[in-house]
Amino acid sequence: MEPKTYTESALCDALKKVISSRPDQISIIDRLWTIHNPSFFYDPSQDTELLDEFLTNQGRYKRMLKRAILEIVTTRHKFFDAETELEFINSVKIKFTDSVQVKMGKWGPKYEGVPIATECVIISTGKEQTYTKSAVAKCKGCSREAELEVDPYTHKLQKPPRCFNEDCSYYKRDLQIDLSSFESGEYKLIQIQEPMDESNYGSPIAYAAELKDGDVRETFIGQRKKIIAAFTSIIGEDGVNDILIKIFSINDAKDDYIKKATDAEIATFKEWVKDPTFLQLRLCRSIAPEIFNETLAKMVAAICTTGGTHVDSLSGNIHGLLIGNPSVGKTKILMYIVKMLQKSAYINGATASGAGITIAYDDKIKAPRIGAIPQCSGGIVAFDEIGKIRKEDNKFTLEAMSERTIHYDKGGFDIWANADTVILAGANPKYDYYDFQHTIVENINLIGPLISRFDLIINMVREKDAELTKARMKHIDRFREMGETVFVQKNDLIPSLMLIKYFTYVRTLKPKMTEKASKARHDFFTRIQAIQQAKGSLPIDERFYEGLYRISTAIAKLLLSNEVTEDHMKQAIDLQMEALATFKMNLAEGETNLNMQEEATSHEGALKHCVTEMQSKMQEELISYDDIIAEMISRYPKYWSTEKKADEYFEKAEEMKILLKREGKYYI
Ligand SMILES: [Zn+2]
Repeated sequence: MEPKTYTESALCDALKKVISSRPDQISIIDRLWTIHNPSFFYDPSQDTELLDEFLTNQGRYKRMLKRAILEIVTTRHKFFDAETELEFINSVKIKFTDSVQVKMGKWGPKYEGVPIATECVIISTGKEQTYTKSAVAKCKGCSREAELEVDPYTHKLQKPPRCFNEDCSYYKRDLQIDLSSFESGEYKLIQIQEPMDESNYGSPIAYAAELKDGDVRETFIGQRKKIIAAFTSIIGEDGVNDILIKIFSINDAKDDYIKKATDAEIATFKEWVKDPTFLQLRLCRSIAPEIFNETLAKMVAAICTTGGTHVDSLSGNIHGLLIGNPSVGKTKILMYIVKMLQKSAYINGATASGAGITIAYDDKIKAPRIGAIPQCSGGIVAFDEIGKIRKEDNKFTLEAMSERTIHYDKGGFDIWANADTVILAGANPKYDYYDFQHTIVENINLIGPLISRFDLIINMVREKDAELTKARMKHIDRFREMGETVFVQKNDLIPSLMLIKYFTYVRTLKPKMTEKASKARHDFFTRIQAIQQAKGSLPIDERFYEGLYRISTAIAKLLLSNEVTEDHMKQAIDLQMEALATFKMNLAEGETNLNMQEEATSHEGALKHCVTEMQSKMQEELISYDDIIAEMISRYPKYWSTEKKADEYFEKAEEMKILLKREGKYYI
């Protein structure tokens, strides 16, 4: 077939038709004139028939493309006059490309004024505002009118001129803006951030961005969006500029960034689980392969990542807590979470600010912004050094774990953020060792109600063992010599990408609980309760019982089973027993001091218990002297039988900085 040749105007018309069929390109063109020195990216291969024209004469193609853009702009924006047209056509640059997709983390000044497509998460939305579209000023005396210019870049309105009608009583006085002809559009300042799964541990990049018109009502906090936008500098007088992202189009992101397993890969998973040692050996060794042994901690990571099944309003989330010194590899295991699931993040309570964890007010945009926990809703957050978080975050973390939402209602804001997020936390013991004579609350810096939200808690602190240390060193040396990729390959472990696909797949499974499994759980619980009656203070409560349901479901999912069998339930029970044993508790003999609601065993522990209890009950960080004293006496009469005794100890505690004072109230 003869290649079709176009006249200039036919080519221009054809290009107009191609562009007009693409709403994203139209929305770019609509806003192109609001940018200084704009660029228009165009992919000539999107119309194969016109591609020949492009290949034979690029100069002509480019000129016609400019003309097509100008014609589209002038029909859509009637205010364009000849002068504006000329200015626009001279300033706009045409760039040919096959793709304008840029990862948000790589976005920066080199893209100044260039519309690009990227994916982001909305982490903050400001208050409702409007921007000025057009305005007319009118003289109060003679009614002379003047259309005011609006800066397309900043939306600033030109200062109204004066009346120059010498006969007018308002001569030389400013015209006033006529509100009846004033036109405005919806406007909202938001903050966008690169998705957690695209950022490398730490601080994902975030920018302020403006939303206009119809987009304002379609955009909510926590959403993942695909935007077409330009990076622009708001030119400051001192030569330092603020960055503002101008959004041209915004749409819900598709979940095609999720790495899903193919049928062939699912068949491979099925082969894996045929090996009865798969979970303990192959899977656990593949998780944070740099870390020697620590099978129990790695198993907890696998189970939390998998989760049980949400049934109606009952959460299937399994939260895990690893207690250990920094050297035991706890952090490496936590950091590995982002290599096991995409919707995940690693954060450190000691270094992350409030805004980075739950939700907190952001001065820059003057609105609250959400952190990692709400951003990873539907996924998992590895939360290291959870004992070091600020008290405000305690409250929101607790809320996320129990309600699966976070509600922020301060300073006129009323924000509900989804926070259906699994927490795999790490905590260091307060001192370098773990004191088995004391409760968990006394050993780590975390409030009891928060600790009791964890389904699986293990203690990784153990006495130094020369043999074990030697083996661990040898393992690390070997690992570092080879590097992760080779090490994984040589040891027949599962590489990170396959782990992601595997966990993404097992999370979708919904195995059914069998009668036998239910009975095994019930029998275990009855047996344990008998011990509880005999010995008193066992922590085995309903939550523990519910936890077994979820943990056994997760084990069934990890083994790709469509039902939860008696064996899966027994594995779940064994896992819990093993976890308790790390605290030197033996369920069979009824020894335990895991209970968080239970009596503290020292004055210091008891006082702290009283304060943290009040903090969580009153949802306040600062507690009054009177409230603390009252709680001390009613809760721990064995330590403080009178107000005088309570007051004496209180004074001592203040002196020793067990209690801290602020604004006339106390906290720990
Ligand atoms: Zn006048």
